[in-house]
Amino acid sequence: MQKRESVIQRLKNIYPDYFRGRKRRRFLMGVALFAGGVILGSFINGSLTDFSASDAQKTESHQPLPVEEEYLDHVNNTPSDEIAPPEESLFDFKEVSIKRGQGMMDVLVKSGADRQDAHKAIKALSKHFNMKKLQIGQTLQAVYDSQGRLSGLDMQKNFDHMIRVRRTEDAFGATLEDLPSLKLTRHVQGVIEDSLFLSAYREGLPNRVIVDMIRIFSFDVDFQREIRKGDQFEIFYERKISEDGRRVEEGNILFARLTLRGKPISLYRYKPAKAHFADYFHENGQSAKKALMRTPIEGARLSSYYGKRKHPVLGYTRMHKGLDFGAPTGTPIMAAGDGIVERASRFGAYGNYVRIRHNGTYKTAYAHLSKYGRGIKAGKRVKQGQIIGYVGATGRVTARHLHYEVLVNGKQVNPLRLKIPTGITLKGKDKKKFLTLAGDVNNQIMARKQNILLTSNQKVAMNEAGESDKNKSMLTGGF
Ligand SMILES: [Zn+2]
Repeated sequence: MQKRESVIQRLKNIYPDYFRGRKRRRFLMGVALFAGGVILGSFINGSLTDFSASDAQKTESHQPLPVEEEYLDHVNNTPSDEIAPPEESLFDFKEVSIKRGQGMMDVLVKSGADRQDAHKAIKALSKHFNMKKLQIGQTLQAVYDSQGRLSGLDMQKNFDHMIRVRRTEDAFGATLEDLPSLKLTRHVQGVIEDSLFLSAYREGLPNRVIVDMIRIFSFDVDFQREIRKGDQFEIFYERKISEDGRRVEEGNILFARLTLRGKPISLYRYKPAKAHFADYFHENGQSAKKALMRTPIEGARLSSYYGKRKHPVLGYTRMHKGLDFGAPTGTPIMAAGDGIVERASRFGAYGNYVRIRHNGTYKTAYAHLSKYGRGIKAGKRVKQGQIIGYVGATGRVTARHLHYEVLVNGKQVNPLRLKIPTGITLKGKDKKKFLTLAGDVNNQIMARKQNILLTSNQKVAMNEAGESDKNKSMLTGGF
């Protein structure tokens, strides 16, 4: 067992590309034949056993690799001169993906499936997957037998699950397979040289995590005006790594800190006892979430303020009753707060327009959109931070931008002057639990920093040279 797994593991490391997509099974067949015919006899008790030890991506629990096992068993039990092609070589694996305007049915039929077979296979698949959530770009493998009949589907449902649909006679059944993974945490810190985004990116933070970090701070920080060169950021977040080490999923931010002109703002992730979702809280237990975000868009420049101005199109002076944010067409716009979409349609000079009612007092409006967010229409409930549309230049405009209004009791007010109501503050048991959790996170980070410092010091001692630049860079990352 151990030996055979090692061979596969080793080959996966050497030929990762061959283990992807439709080539995978065929390559494995080749591997099996090769292993059976050449290596196995002479090496079986020898050096192959070392492969697992040298495998950098080895994880603690070895999950069996069913298909590979089957092949190798087959090979083991067959004298090398009698090796027949394994049965599965007669199967054809076609990787297909959902394109705009297509459904699963279209894709399968186009790849060669019989309509009835496709229907049955989709029905089986839908036991483990809500077909309404099928997205453009979703890929799957359609398996065809030697007669060109659809015999199965493999679809990655999410990071941890694979759905396998298989034909049995005339019916199709589906199973949900767990894909083992490792959960790790990562600590990164750095100094802001230009923007938070670029500085964090240079420290190796993936886009998704940076966007998340910006989002959780966007209640406290105005990223257009409050970030200075020399400000600092620090982040501690989760990531998952698939057992084979080839897929990584960035997880939740557990802690993040921005130090702006020497003043730290620290946020910890915590799920209050009665809440449905986790949220971010300041050290004192106060929610980072406000009723309204300060800016409903990221990476935009505030190009026009609230107040009297000469109208760029009409030419005369009038009141500008909102804020204008200059940003490229297609930049996502977020709902400034939880609420219900009151209008999502063309609205005169506003062009494509969305208005959200947050409560009895507050509404926000977004104008000149190029298009609306997924599913955004009147009556729809939206969450703070949800994408409700994209920057455009519809209506009476000279250039693409977002025109943003905050309405209090139906009248536009200056969003920058608004005293924004704060969210909840943790109390009692919740606060106690939160403080324990925050302390634990602090300890983990402290241990991480000390570890890195130790490694760094050892290195200095070993080199006996003060290569301080190199050591400094070590302080900023790693698992
Ligand atoms: Zn405007």
